[in-house]
Order: sequence, then structure tokens, then C-alpha cells
Amino acid sequence: MINISKPVIGQEEIDAVVSVLKSGMIVQGKITEELEKKFAKYCGTKYAVAMNSGTAAIHCGLYALGIKEGDEVITTPFTFVATANPILMQNAKVVFADVSEDDFNIDPKEIEKKITKRTKAIVAVDLYGQIYNYEATKKIARKYKLKLLEDACQAVGAEYRGKRAGNFSDIAAFSLYATKNIMSGEGGLVATNSPEIAKKCKMFRHHGQSEDKRYEYLDLGYNYRTTDILAAIALVQLKKADKLNRQRVKNAKMLTRGLSGIHGLILPKIKNNFTHVFHQYTIRVTDDFPLSRDELLEFLKKKGVDGGIYYPKPLHLHSHFIKQGYKRGDFPVSEKLSSQVLSLPVHPTLKDKDIEQIIKVIKDSQNGR
Ligand SMILES: *Cc1c(COP(=O)(O)O)cnc(C)c1O
Repeated sequence: MINISKPVIGQEEIDAVVSVLKSGMIVQGKITEELEKKFAKYCGTKYAVAMNSGTAAIHCGLYALGIKEGDEVITTPFTFVATANPILMQNAKVVFADVSEDDFNIDPKEIEKKITKRTKAIVAVDLYGQIYNYEATKKIARKYKLKLLEDACQAVGAEYRGKRAGNFSDIAAFSLYATKNIMSGEGGLVATNSPEIAKKCKMFRHHGQSEDKRYEYLDLGYNYRTTDILAAIALVQLKKADKLNRQRVKNAKMLTRGLSGIHGLILPKIKNNFTHVFHQYTIRVTDDFPLSRDELLEFLKKKGVDGGIYYPKPLHLHSHFIKQGYKRGDFPVSEKLSSQVLSLPVHPTLKDKDIEQIIKVIKDSQNGR
């Protein structure tokens, strides 16, 4: 089977873990601090704060931006549920705005329609590894004095005009989950240029404890701390980030070359001035293709190629959002995309012959062979 994702784990990662275990200091400590410094440097931001998940990073980010009960936060329904749930964790209201067809990311025109007196922030996602429409979104944020959070969980190393993900908001959140472009099994980080925001994240990560005085709690917080075991893996992965991303881009190019011109398939577009890091290589299977999306996925699996559907149902159609009054038809673009998208393997451990096989199977599927 050609897997849809596969973590790259070398001897260096193993040695790093063993060394932390042998040191006896396994909780969040010096190695985590080193990861935070190097991750900030990699992103080109002043600060980074490590957590135990990307979800925790988004939650910390919202807290640090001051999101609280009664606030409205605008985000996309076409994303992983962890983008939106932290808004609810802060007792704020999730206000969805539909996405744009060409980059799968939140559509600035739709954002503007959803703004009310209560709107406090926008959470934009860099879905599949391409940064969202920053310029237009930033303009809206400025006009209405809204905070901006970048969910960059799928986009470590992605660029817009030469700047890396992490620089397109007041605070950005990253994930180190096993399938992400760099990983430590579980884990996450925030990146920001604001010392106040970084400080608040550190507090929130550790029960709201004052940085100056132990056992003095300044606000409600959680246990979102990470461990030096995870940080040690992430440090090794960070060194390889560019190499791993380059391999993904190369694989994506090969897929695009092989699949272009197939009637009924829409291939991923790379926007001008953007560097896509292809966390996912996602095609759209339209009605003009001989097989439905689900039939094509079935065919691929039968022929030994795994595929993924990210995401089969937009968030507004899940029960805890339906309860808030959302219904089918509210976000037509997201609903259409969720019925068309199919992600193909693009991860760095694929061989050229694997990619040739993926292309061949898709071509064969057209005549059901
Ligand atoms: C992975 C991911 C998250 C959450 O990350 P976890 O580390 O799994 O908590 C959030 N948003 C998006 C878009 C993701 O892909």
C-alpha cells in the first residue's frame, strides 16, 4: 500500500529521545526552550512558545488575544475541527465564513459580510500547506480593528512574498502531530512578534501561573505543557524541515505533470508569490470525471494507493455547530468542496515509482481497469 502519510523517523530522532530519557530530566525544560528559540528563528518571528498540541496552541492564542465570553470569532467551516473548537472553549461564538474555490481558504469577501459589533477576531487557516489570502484579510482586520490568528498547523515553512508562515497574524499556531510536515507524535507551538502575547501563552500553558512567582495564579489556565522528550524529536525535525518540504514540492510537481489534462479533475493551484508546502496534495473530482470521488477513492485503495478526504463534512454540519443554528446550504462552496476533494499521497518518503503508480492508477480508473 502507498500510504497517505508516513512520519520520517531517523536514528537522529531516536538518539535525541534516548538522550533526554537518560538525562532523567524529561518534563518541559531546557530542550523545550531551545526548540522555542530555534522555531522562532525558523519562522522569522521574535517568539515561539511550545505546547502539547496544535489545539492547545490555538486555544492559547485566542486567550492571549483576549477572546472571551460573548465575543464573535470568524473562521472557516472547511478545516479540521481543532480550528474552531478552541473558540467554543473560550465561550465565544463561532461565526463561519465560506471559503474560496481556488485556494480552499477563507474568502475575505465572505468575512466582511459576517462582521458585527461583537466580532473580535478572525481565525484564518493555511489549508493543505498554502498561506491564506493575507493581504485582503489584513485590510479587513485593520478596518474593523479585529485580531488575527493564523492556523498554520499544516503550513510550517510555507511562504508568502518570502516570509514564512507565522508572520501573517498577531499570533500563529502550529502542530507537531505525527502526520504534519514536521512532527513529534503530538505537540504544537505558537509564533508571534508580541512579547505580551508570548507571555500570556506561557501563563495559560501552565494554569495561569505568574512567571515571576511560583504557585501564584493570575488567571484560569490549563496544563498545555509539553515535554523535553517531544521537544527533542521536534528539534531534529526542524533541522530537516526545508529538505522535507522540498521533497513534498517535488512530489507535487510530478503529480501535477502526470495528472494534468485529465478531464474532470481539478489539480491544486499555487498562487502567485506563494510557496505551497503541500501538507496535502488535494485534487477535486468533479461531475465530469467518469467516477464519483468516493468511487475513485475506492478504486485507488483496491489498487494499493491510499487516499484521504480532508474533510468529508464541513464543520457547520456537525452536531455541536448545528445546535448553534447552522444548516445545509449555509456555506455552498465548503459543501461542494467537501464532496469533491481527494488528497493523494505526497509525503517525503515516496519514491518516483510510487508517484508514477499513483498517476497510472488514476488514469486507469477512467476506464475502470
Ligand atoms: C492538525 C491541525 C490542528 C490541530 O493540531 P493537533 O496538534 O492535532 O491538536 C488544527 N488545525 C489544523 C488545520 C490542523 O491540520
